[in-house]
Amino acid sequence: MNQPQLSRDHVLLVDDDPVARLLTASFLTSSGFEVTEAASGAEALRCFDDDIDCILLDALMPDMDGFATCRALRAAPGGAQVPILMLTGLDDDDSVARAYDAGATDFFVKSTQWTLLTQRTRYLLRAARTRDELEASRARLSRAQRIARFGSWECDVATSRITGSELYFAVLGRAYHEAPVYVAELFALVHPDDLPGFERKWDALVRGGGEMQAEVRLRHGNGRYLHVLFDAEAERDARGRTTVLTGTVQDVTQRREAEAQIQALAYYDNLTGLPNRRMFGERLRTAIDEASRRGGWLAALFVDLDRFKQVNDSQGHGAGDQLLREVAQRLVGCVRAGDADTDMVARLGGDEFVLLLTGITDANHPQRVAERALAVLREPFVINGRENFISASIGISRFPDDGADAETLLRNADAAMYAVKGNGRNAIAAYRPEFNVADRRRWELEQALHKALERNELVLHYQPQVDVRTGRVPGVEALMRWQHLGRLVPPGEFIPLAEETGLIVPFGEWALRTAAAQAAQWMHAGHGRVRVAVNIPGSHFQRRGFVDMVRAALVGAGIGGELLELEITETMLMNDLSATLATLRALNELGVRLSIDDFGTGYSSLSYLKRFDINQLKIDRSFVNDLKPDSDNEAITAAIIAMATALKLEVVAEGVESREQMLLLNRRGCQLMQGYYFSRPLPASDITTLLDRLRDAGPRAEWRIADGSRSVALVPRRTAAQAA
Ligand code: C2E
Ligand code: MG
Ligand code: MG
Repeated sequence: MNQPQLSRDHVLLVDDDPVARLLTASFLTSSGFEVTEAASGAEALRCFDDDIDCILLDALMPDMDGFATCRALRAAPGGAQVPILMLTGLDDDDSVARAYDAGATDFFVKSTQWTLLTQRTRYLLRAARTRDELEASRARLSRAQRIARFGSWECDVATSRITGSELYFAVLGRAYHEAPVYVAELFALVHPDDLPGFERKWDALVRGGGEMQAEVRLRHGNGRYLHVLFDAEAERDARGRTTVLTGTVQDVTQRREAEAQIQALAYYDNLTGLPNRRMFGERLRTAIDEASRRGGWLAALFVDLDRFKQVNDSQGHGAGDQLLREVAQRLVGCVRAGDADTDMVARLGGDEFVLLLTGITDANHPQRVAERALAVLREPFVINGRENFISASIGISRFPDDGADAETLLRNADAAMYAVKGNGRNAIAAYRPEFNVADRRRWELEQALHKALERNELVLHYQPQVDVRTGRVPGVEALMRWQHLGRLVPPGEFIPLAEETGLIVPFGEWALRTAAAQAAQWMHAGHGRVRVAVNIPGSHFQRRGFVDMVRAALVGAGIGGELLELEITETMLMNDLSATLATLRALNELGVRLSIDDFGTGYSSLSYLKRFDINQLKIDRSFVNDLKPDSDNEAITAAIIAMATALKLEVVAEGVESREQMLLLNRRGCQLMQGYYFSRPLPASDITTLLDRLRDAGPRAEWRIADGSRSVALVPRRTAAQAA
């Protein structure tokens, strides 16, 4: 006896002869089958369901014979695939043929050879199972192919005719009748750029056999291009001639699109859409390879915005982003006009951009592009209805002179840019080897600057502003110095760095407090009102809390606002008008005086000045510097003085170094002057000495009248500090 099985094969036994049925059933049962018996065709049809794995069907039955029953079973739901073994009489050839005709799977000559019958039944079941599995796997395959957009095709070489699976057509996205049937039709769909390569591979496959793989863009039924991957193999006849190509075709458009998206993320800057640092690096390397092979020149322009941080801090990141996008567009405009399309503008991050210029034949070309860039960036940026002014510092390096590889070239353009920053910005520099040294020094400086405040290394020197008609000193300008490594570092060398690193805020607060305290000290020492002017950079002025900081300095020193003067620049006034107006109003309420420093070098117009409550203009040093009779500078200073007078503004000439300058300015109506001619900036104690003498000696006594006339040319007595 067989072991009982968990799930036994279920046989439907159909026979009208009860004895034969009983014998057969009992033998099948003892062989491990589960048996359902039916005495007629009609009963068989009633008993048949999904549970039946196999049917043994007697051919000869009354009413409905085996053949008719077989046909009916095949037509019944689920009956198409079930294995049916027809039981026939001995040597009944006719029945065998009819059995197959009626759809029987096989036949078995009725006998008492039970073992044979069970074996045959088992075999039938196994074959049916294999077929089922095959079909399932085929269905799975075709589903997988559909999901993978994978079709198969065959091409008859002699006729060039292609036959394909349904998916072949589906992949090509066309209605059946439109699909390419001949090779020429297929080729006609291929993108013109991809066609030569594809034809070459196809021909090589036909002629040489083997395999090929090709990815091409195919024109899709709806006009757009699909990325399609062809895999093919040649079949050859006995004489080695290729007769048939068989292959697959796969739509890889989605994959390519995803790759393109990844590429976009990896190689382009999100904010501006410009190529990013990585893309630029690759492009630069390729350009260098090309230039070294063909002996050309190229240049990298490193562009860094000068006042971006200010816009970002005062107006928020949204405004900053908008500005950067606009900068990107303007820079692209600079290279595009007539330049080779291999040129590139990339954003390296933050407010750093870089331009790559290739195929240079004229050595002045990079300089000209840089000038164009400076010019377009000087134009105002209108953001949220406000005009913003920025500028840029640009460093240029050239291949092959300034570097043989991409890294060196970029580093040196960067070093040149830093040299511009250190020199007052808003300019262009071509790389020179000493810049790298300067770069390293700058880094060391930055480290030390961070510790300057806590180490008490900052000091204020004061430069008198002299009223040349009275000889009095109504005010002084506080100028910051840094005592570093035994040297007194002038502000030009560390203020820009302090602005970039944000240290300018604590530095500025310190300067305000120190200057206010100094003014208080002079007042208490009996020098009356000596007002102290403090230089305020835009990045500080535009910060929230600036007014509070000024108020705290005044309160801390116990003085009124009239003893403190703030020197701001025209550009600062122009940026962010409404915020500036609010700040100025608040400062006015504190009684603090406002002075426009370096007047004449900025962008402001007179009409602007009228809108602000300003007390003073300081004529920029550059106009005073080579002030000669009947020069342009004389005309400019004369105009500024006349204008200031008309606007009822006090005017101070700074950088007065000679008697001639002093006389000329005085003749034009300028009364207040500041410069080496009178005094260099001095430590507070030296100013105190000066003020003491001035007070003790009465009017003009301490100042020597230089030219004898009463129209006052006053020269200070040399103080101890100056003599040293
Ligand atoms: P500024 O505000 O225009 O200051 C005038 C500069 O001209 C000072 O240079 C001064 O020493 C110099 N100077 C004065 N008289 C003459 C002269 O007759 N001839 C020449 N050639 N130069 C003269 P300094 O002290 O090097 O300051 C340079 C700049 O640094 C200042 O320009 C100001 O913008 C900035 N600065 C100075 N102190 C501070 C500060 O405490 N805070 C901030 N934020 N900036 C400061
Ligand atoms: Mg100043
Ligand atoms: Mg100045």
